[in-house]
Amino acid sequence: SPIPDYLADVLDAVRGIEDGAPADYIDVLARADVSRLAVALATVDGEVYAVGDHDVEFSIQSISKPFAYALAIEDNGLDRVLERVGVEPSGNAFNELSLEAGSHRPMNPMINAGAIATHALVATPGASREARITRFVDVMSRLAGRPLSVDEAVFDAELRDGNRNMGLGYMLKAGGMLDCDPGEAVSGYIRQCSVNVNVRDLALMAATLANAGQQPQTGEPIFPASSVRQVLSVMTSCGMYDAAGDWITTVGIPAKSGVAGGIIGALPGQLGLAVFSPRLDGHGNSVRGVAVCERLSRDMGLHMMDVS
Ligand code: GLN
Repeated sequence: SPIPDYLADVLDAVRGIEDGAPADYIDVLARADVSRLAVALATVDGEVYAVGDHDVEFSIQSISKPFAYALAIEDNGLDRVLERVGVEPSGNAFNELSLEAGSHRPMNPMINAGAIATHALVATPGASREARITRFVDVMSRLAGRPLSVDEAVFDAELRDGNRNMGLGYMLKAGGMLDCDPGEAVSGYIRQCSVNVNVRDLALMAATLANAGQQPQTGEPIFPASSVRQVLSVMTSCGMYDAAGDWITTVGIPAKSGVAGGIIGALPGQLGLAVFSPRLDGHGNSVRGVAVCERLSRDMGLHMMDVS
């Protein structure tokens, strides 16, 4: 049929791009098969088209952050979340050690500092690390429409090598932005990042955001529309880190990338898309993934500022 054929052509068109390198801060990611390439589209009607290595699983990494943010809002209310995490683009790298001057809040929930503070707000304040992670994995599984699990090898490696994230945790604690122990917030955040997914799962997660929080295949209302609006807004300004401006002008879709090579995009009222390719650019965004999204946006007229 024409859509899978078109998507396969788009993948073929980017296979020649060999720039970038997989994340190398842990061995499991550094050893990724760089030939892996996949794309999936999920419409708000629940139609899914997945092409390339669409069954290959990889760790969700930072693509988990918008979903944890949605849960934190649901569990605490937006006002309380805003006391702990801002909504301004940082213009810095995703693992920057910085807080907003004055407020001591992390700049936004898409950088690691903000994501660690956000993770600590999942489930009710005072919940155990297990309660937070169980809640997170359960909701991610409902979004994907199948049970998801944690990649223990990624989790162990990230935790062993997690000094920078631990540093962020202590900085947040010192600024009064964490109720729990910093080590607990960071290990929970790392577990959240270690959930395994494929592009089909991610496309359905993105399509749920595009569909005002209702999972398009099961029909389950997973997030309220008001939370989804907040999440998509922050993805638009901060989801691609310090490349957010480049991304929003060229691709023009609220998005989030992860360091394993995944990217999601959610176009409100229309579709969710997901790509996977392990080689990253200097911002930590998949090089071929960005190229695929630029093509899809151009060919299909997906830029949200285009008036059709
Ligand atoms: N686990 C990674 C980290 O905390 C996630 C970062 C990312 O995907 N950009 O550094």
